[in-house]
Amino acid sequence: MVALIAFSCKEAKKENTDTVVAEEVQKPEVKLYTFSGGTVGVNNLELFSQDTTYQGQTKEFSDPFYVISHPKGNLMWDAGLPEMLVGQEPYTDPSGAFTVSRRDSVLNQLKSVGMTPDDILYLALSHTHFDHSGHANTMKNSTWLVQQTEYDFITSDEARTNNADLYNAIKDLNKVTKLKGDHDVFGDGTVVIKSMPGHTPGHQVLYVELAEHGPLLLTGDLYHLFENREYKRVPSFNHDAAQTLASMDAFEAFAREKNAKVYLQHQKEDFNRMPKAPEYLK
Ligand SMILES: [Zn+2]
Repeated sequence: MVALIAFSCKEAKKENTDTVVAEEVQKPEVKLYTFSGGTVGVNNLELFSQDTTYQGQTKEFSDPFYVISHPKGNLMWDAGLPEMLVGQEPYTDPSGAFTVSRRDSVLNQLKSVGMTPDDILYLALSHTHFDHSGHANTMKNSTWLVQQTEYDFITSDEARTNNADLYNAIKDLNKVTKLKGDHDVFGDGTVVIKSMPGHTPGHQVLYVELAEHGPLLLTGDLYHLFENREYKRVPSFNHDAAQTLASMDAFEAFAREKNAKVYLQHQKEDFNRMPKAPEYLK
């Protein structure tokens, strides 16, 4: 059920003199666990561009969530699809745009790595759409790290009225830390939430530093498709297209600066290249 990447490494430390001395510096052992939060069958891929590029196309999206384990605590990144789907036939929404399914609950999935929700110190969602907030309320004892703008958007009277399901998915999260931009979760630069608005008002991505694997970035829904990254295509339902394009530029500059591997969360190829236990691939 799980992909595990761990590291520890040596670091060159500069002394007071001009001599650079190789010294054993124990970096925090950061691990990344990848879980399936279900599958999203996109029946109308045209939604994922401002033009008709994807007219008539369909695609199956992965929908992972992750646990980043740091010596100071665990962070859960995203929360998959709603758990009411577990044990049900795939569900198609009234518009017909999406067919969604989920196989297992977060409790079972955490159990597979010896954890319970009480082991999750922090919860952060890339954004509050239904395919990223599914089991969020189960993590009600965790501290929710959310951009102030996303929090205001999802708790507004308008959202409660018009998007009640989205609001209800996070309504039990009472321990909240509201962010105004980037946030270094454990204070040592190894796990950093990066503010990348546009898809929603407070959309964010996650930077994780794993020495053995190299630094990596989880894109949230900044990009759903490899082609959208290559050609900077913006979904038609994004909150703000111009803001999305600015976030894409900031993201690419940061990825280059850190030489980070980029994982598109909704692309099955990227999901599959995370190593997993064999039963997980069935
Ligand atoms: Zn999504």
